[in-house]
Amino acid sequence: MTAERVSAAFRELYGTAPEGVWAAPGRVNLIGEHTDYNDGFVLPLALPQTARAAVARRADGLLRLHSSDVPGGPVELSLDRLGGRPDRGWAGYPAGVVWALREAGHPVTGADVHIESTVPTGAGLSSSAALEIATALALSDLFGLGLSRLELARLGQRAENTFVGVPCGIMDQTASACCTRGHVLHLDTRELTSRQVPFDLAAAGMRLLVIDTRVRHALADGAYAARRASCEEGARALGVPALRDVDSAELRSALGRLADGTVRRRVRHVVTENQRVAETVARLEAGAIRAIGPLLNEGHASCRDDFEVSCPELDLAVGAAGRAGALGARMTGAGFGGSAVALVEEEDAGRVAEAVAEAFATAGHREPRVFSAVPSAGARRLL
Ligand code: ADP
Ligand code: MG
Repeated sequence: MTAERVSAAFRELYGTAPEGVWAAPGRVNLIGEHTDYNDGFVLPLALPQTARAAVARRADGLLRLHSSDVPGGPVELSLDRLGGRPDRGWAGYPAGVVWALREAGHPVTGADVHIESTVPTGAGLSSSAALEIATALALSDLFGLGLSRLELARLGQRAENTFVGVPCGIMDQTASACCTRGHVLHLDTRELTSRQVPFDLAAAGMRLLVIDTRVRHALADGAYAARRASCEEGARALGVPALRDVDSAELRSALGRLADGTVRRRVRHVVTENQRVAETVARLEAGAIRAIGPLLNEGHASCRDDFEVSCPELDLAVGAAGRAGALGARMTGAGFGGSAVALVEEEDAGRVAEAVAEAFATAGHREPRVFSAVPSAGARRLL
């Protein structure tokens, strides 16, 4: 879907040309799962798949929102009445961005928006953040707000947390706003400092497969809230602001001070996962891409056994990929469905994808969607 086509669709819908077209990508997290709400470390990359937003300003306080994925005409909202938080479905994501901008004192006076996205929705690949960041960047440019990439990310998170009501961390929006081609983003979610770490798979003759299981189990939302609560309980019991502050060298003694077995395992996941992120970065910076394979496998085991956020489909995908020759594989995203990643040699990619599909067919699951995650650019203006 080209920017010109998105622009033409806008013109057809609203009868005038847009002032521009902006794109923001979905993301996949290489490693660092359920660490972002523990002030920890994550390592996402941007996908080639993007949400594209054609946008024009309005001066009359009206916000019109349309997505090619949603049947019917645009949703119309009055900016004066954005508060109060009734459920606005998908429109809550872009409307939440406008709300967050106005809350922060930015003079956004209305807009017409048309969105087309190639990011699979609900697959743990952050179609929601792509929507938010494309909208936020467009409005920042058009209204001359000059917001930094990090400010865009924070606005997107605020929109999703407070306006839509999804308690996500800061990873998804930061990845969509800040990632660069050929890199993973090493993000410290407390300091909000980041570093681009080289991840040039093509040059190394490798691929990162994304395996979208196309399932999302119903317990996901409740389980996410429960995991957050357990982590907070663990931090409180250990007397630290967040689990990020538990040093891996002190893990044994920290675990010994936790009475509750469940909290103990949750804490162990977060602390060892932060350590795995650091080790992954060290190996990538040393140019040893293949050497991160075992870390991915360990990360999956920790998500499955200690944090208990995997599911049969994710375990099957990871297991089948490993048996077919993947160097490492793990669930990615919040879990209970969504996607897994598998690091493979280029020549093994087809075989691994087939093996996963076959395992799913044998188990009676729906066919998974498998594609290569080329580390791509973050949000940008296209037209
Ligand atoms: P993820 O971000 O992992 O894809 P979420 O549940 O966080 O999953 O966000 C998915 C939601 O985002 C969808 O249910 C929908 O409301 C909204 N969304 C994402 N992409 C689009 C789109 N192209 N058009 C309309 N809504 C979208
Ligand atoms: Mg999301």
